[in-house]
Amino acid sequence: MNEKLKTRIKELIENGARITEGDFERELYSMDMGGVPFAKRLFDTTPELVILPKSVDALKKIAKFANEEKVALFPRGSVSSGLGGVVPTVKGIVLDLSFMDKIVALNREQETLKVQTGVRWSEIDDFLKKEDLSVRAYPSSFFSTVGGWIATGGYGIGSYRFGHLKYQIESIEVMFPLGEVKSIHPEEEEFARFFGTEGQFGIILTATLTLRKKQNKPPPHLIYFESAEEAFEFITGMIKAGFMPNHIKYLDASHLEEANTFLGEDLFSVKDAVLVEFDEDEEETKFLYFAEGRGILAEDYLSNYIWHERLFPMKKRSRKPTPLACELVIPLENTVPYLNEVKRITERCGVDIQVESHIVGKEKALLMLTQMSDVRDSKAYLVHITLVPVLTQLGIKFGGVPYGIGIWNTPFIKEKCDKKTLKLYKAYKREVDPRNILNPHKFFSIKTKMVNILGILFKPLMFGLLIRLATLATPVFVKLISPKEEFKEESLLEKTVYACIKCGSCAATCPAYLVTNEELVTPKNKLYLAKKLLDGEEISKSDSDKVFLCTHCGMCREVCQNDLDLVAAWTELERMLEDRFGKPGEAIRDFVSTMESSEEYWRFVYAQKV
Ligand SMILES: Cc1cc2nc3c(=O)[nH]c(=O)nc-3n(C[C@H](O)[C@H](O)[C@H](O)COP(=O)(O)OP(=O)(O)OC[C@H]3O[C@@H](n4cnc5c(N)ncnc54)[C@H](O)[C@@H]3O)c2cc1C
Ligand code: SF4
Ligand code: SF4
Repeated sequence: MNEKLKTRIKELIENGARITEGDFERELYSMDMGGVPFAKRLFDTTPELVILPKSVDALKKIAKFANEEKVALFPRGSVSSGLGGVVPTVKGIVLDLSFMDKIVALNREQETLKVQTGVRWSEIDDFLKKEDLSVRAYPSSFFSTVGGWIATGGYGIGSYRFGHLKYQIESIEVMFPLGEVKSIHPEEEEFARFFGTEGQFGIILTATLTLRKKQNKPPPHLIYFESAEEAFEFITGMIKAGFMPNHIKYLDASHLEEANTFLGEDLFSVKDAVLVEFDEDEEETKFLYFAEGRGILAEDYLSNYIWHERLFPMKKRSRKPTPLACELVIPLENTVPYLNEVKRITERCGVDIQVESHIVGKEKALLMLTQMSDVRDSKAYLVHITLVPVLTQLGIKFGGVPYGIGIWNTPFIKEKCDKKTLKLYKAYKREVDPRNILNPHKFFSIKTKMVNILGILFKPLMFGLLIRLATLATPVFVKLISPKEEFKEESLLEKTVYACIKCGSCAATCPAYLVTNEELVTPKNKLYLAKKLLDGEEISKSDSDKVFLCTHCGMCREVCQNDLDLVAAWTELERMLEDRFGKPGEAIRDFVSTMESSEEYWRFVYAQKV
């Protein structure tokens, strides 16, 4: 986009959006939590502009402009996905939908709630508590947005009882790339096309969610087993016996080992386990009879702790900063044979893998296999990242379907969508987005800068060959790797910077971010700036000043997925920046008066007190 075009778009949208142009701020929009280091070499990941639209009208103007000028648009929610779905692939505009975060209407009689796309599940929960209502299923990333979960996943906590998210939505409003806005209902064929297609066909504007009465639930239960086989046998037995819990989750022994390490005491048995939550006392009592003799029930306080941790699935997995996940929806009956194969391969490679699984229906499990890696240890990282497609491919052999696609799972699109669906999706994309401006060069196929090397490697035949090679070569390669480098992190700030997994959970509760909507004010991005500082890279005074827009309230620490000592890190970071640039007295004064006069801030303070 040349300067003339940038001026035109600014004039077009006037006050209908905020536009961000600063170099560093745009860089913050060039990544997701996956943080694949070579992405920048393959794609133009830094957007030319970041636009935060405040209204549908502004969005329409942006779409009209983008179509006329063939400028790519990349929609983005809370960036808690990690496969490149929000990462720009070509020069263009990132549409940060944070300002579209209004709760539109509650219908108490019908028990429905209409919300804008940028509302987070945690905000909905806060709102509904007062009404004695609740949503049905929700993601463990409680801080992620409604639009983001529609566009990516749809399976989470509560999916056993309530099924996929698409069964809990009465209607969605979508803006197509040509600017048309349409309300779409479940009976229409088009409806399902917006779930899991990662913003390929349109921008989700609102969703009307079906709710239920808040339940007075019995306590959840954690049951230990000697092996994954026993745990899954128990799950299938429970399903056959007709139990209908809200949620069933499998956790491998490593999770409970981590919990012990985190708590500094051996409270949990280090065994495979199943976590179950019911709605009604009567069913829970029957379940307790059923469980007796089949597994060992953990004490209530331990079950409660693990239940609470369902919203912190990344907590204290390891101090390594780079989570690499392989996620598949797999037939329940094939889960154990698949996990046995995974174990065989990862043991040969000397890699630790942690497994958890939401049971998402009578026949399906959403399996998450996570390895914690460290991009600084480049050789080990290469082994870890190679294993992700190897394990995905293996899962496909066991009847699995990859959960997300983004950029990095594009070779698996044919496994995610059958031939007929893919043909239909491609035709629909051509129809609704004829100039291919919405989230281009991902999901369906890849196109990289200059020679399309990744596009070639990701062709099914070539990719299949590469996977076979990787399966054979990885264990050999592992043996050639020199002993793991130890990274010495001197200060608390350094430790925090490298332990942050960039999940974005902290942004959802940061009052400074909620009031300013400045991306650089989020804890995650302050740590990114700190990394640059520690690496000796240039930082501007104006970017440095934004770090001081912080109340030191500690809310970020409360919700940090990796339990980082963030407030202490802010003190250290501010001290370093103050030494270099001085304390930005005026910016801090302005910030304090903005906070004091912000209704949102006082609502936030009140909500914390309640
Ligand atoms: C700790 C943790 C736990 C998680 N637990 C779960 C889980 O239980 N279940 C699950 O499914 N996932 C889970 N995830 C993955 C992720 O949180 C979900 O995919 C999430 O719902 C994405 O929402 P988001 O707002 O972060 O979207 P983003 O990551 O910002 O965007 C994801 C994709 O959706 C597109 N998009 C975003 N908003 C719109 C819109 N309005 N219109 C069109 N396209 C849009 C983007 O372009 C991108 O392709 C977890 C992640 C973390 C870090
Ligand atoms: S301590 Fe600062 S960064 Fe953390 S939540 Fe409070 S204002 Fe935000
Ligand atoms: S600071 Fe914590 S919550 Fe925030 S992105 Fe990093 S790990 Fe996630």
